[in-house]
Amino acid sequence: MARELLALRPQASLLLLEKEDTVGKHQTGHNSGVIHAGIYYVPGSLKARLCIEGARATKEFCDEHAIRYDTCGKLIVATNPLEMTRADALHERATSNGLSLRRVGESELRELEPQIAGVGALLSPETAIVDYREICRKMLALLQAAGATSHFGETVNRIKETGSIVEIGSKGGSWQARQLVCCAGLQSDRLARMAGADISYRIVPFRGEYFRLPPRLNRIVSHLIYPVPDPDLPFLGIHLTRMIDGSVTLGPNAVLGLSREGYPKFSIKAATRPT
Ligand SMILES: Cc1cc2nc3c(=O)[nH]c(=O)nc-3n(C[C@H](O)[C@H](O)[C@H](O)COP(=O)(O)OP(=O)(O)OC[C@H]3O[C@@H](n4cnc5c(N)ncnc54)[C@H](O)[C@@H]3O)c2cc1C
Repeated sequence: MARELLALRPQASLLLLEKEDTVGKHQTGHNSGVIHAGIYYVPGSLKARLCIEGARATKEFCDEHAIRYDTCGKLIVATNPLEMTRADALHERATSNGLSLRRVGESELRELEPQIAGVGALLSPETAIVDYREICRKMLALLQAAGATSHFGETVNRIKETGSIVEIGSKGGSWQARQLVCCAGLQSDRLARMAGADISYRIVPFRGEYFRLPPRLNRIVSHLIYPVPDPDLPFLGIHLTRMIDGSVTLGPNAVLGLSREGYPKFSIKAATRPT
């Protein structure tokens, strides 16, 4: 967001406030690291358009700044005829989204991935993996070079709009700006309320736990391996993910979290009164 704003208005004075000591410490630094191609979303929807454009922009950014990504491709594997029917529906959807996926039969699947068993699969050759933390660090360096100011360790705890000014406060400081954009991830609902927005929803944390395979299994697959998603569930399903550092993870599961930003197991955060 900061990058886009500065690109639109290079003369603007831009301040970035972040509560952690660096960028990418929350969701962006704790995900599967996949540059999704945009297979699943309803054709024509904002999500479909953003995912497809975002994948292209992410790869372009990486090319421009020598950030390594690996277009290893993704296999969505069907384990029975019902899943194959669902995979065919996904194939149609992806095609409507302008993507070129390929249907893979059982024997080709065995050739591509000898360790994976299935009745067939969809191959998304464009799906890639990257280290999103590295992207964040590069974006920060570019912002700083373009004249933006960044303050770390500043947790925004007050937002007040008066006339044409918005006042933003933390424990240690306060700032005034003409415009404020909150990109607060899992804290977005709290910041929206802080800013006086009348919202009727609240973020409920779910922990996604990943299991990292032992290093001797790092070459067990050469693609990302996903199940055919169950249309009744809002998750992509447990997947085998090759990470850009060479390791392979299996996950995530989804368990109700007791802390919004608690990554180790059994993280608990005492409830605070909603602001
Ligand atoms: C388990 C899991 C797997 C995923 N896998 C993928 C994937 O493979 N590929 C993909 O593209 N997407 C994936 N996603 C989605 C992706 O990670 C998120 O959509 C994305 O990281 C959200 O970015 P964000 O900037 O909105 O939030 P965040 O990365 O969480 O950043 C929010 C920032 O706001 C700061 N902040 C919050 N409150 C305050 C405050 N009061 N004051 C100051 N700063 C504050 C935080 O410290 C943080 O740095 C996954 C998500 C999950 C949960």
